[in-house]
Amino acid sequence: MNPAEARRREALLRDAGAGVAQERAALTERLAEMAEDRTRLVEASQNSNADDEHDPEGQTIAYERSQLAALTEAVSSHLAELDGAADRLAEGTYGDCEVCGEPIPVERLLVRPAARTCVTHAT
Ligand SMILES: [Zn+2]
Repeated sequence: MNPAEARRREALLRDAGAGVAQERAALTERLAEMAEDRTRLVEASQNSNADDEHDPEGQTIAYERSQLAALTEAVSSHLAELDGAADRLAEGTYGDCEVCGEPIPVERLLVRPAARTCVTHAT
């Protein structure tokens, strides 16, 4: 690692904790909003004639619920990745590839702050 890269890495590791905490807070907020949306949709489907499969409103609500469930799943798993990143920051192993132990390049960490592996060992 050349000195310039080492300095960038040092700066990134210094800021990573705040960045991860900020993103976790944002995702937690989104999850709460999506939980509210879900409640709203459940209420809407109770008010519509959900037993009628030809009811266009019922179908729209069902579609929205499945979209929301998929989104909730994606956000939850991203949040779990960030939790892992926070743990690694606390342990001092953040930014090291889990497979080979080599430092993960700064460019990759900037794009994917929760990355656990170098590009070679990414699945
Ligand atoms: Zn690796």
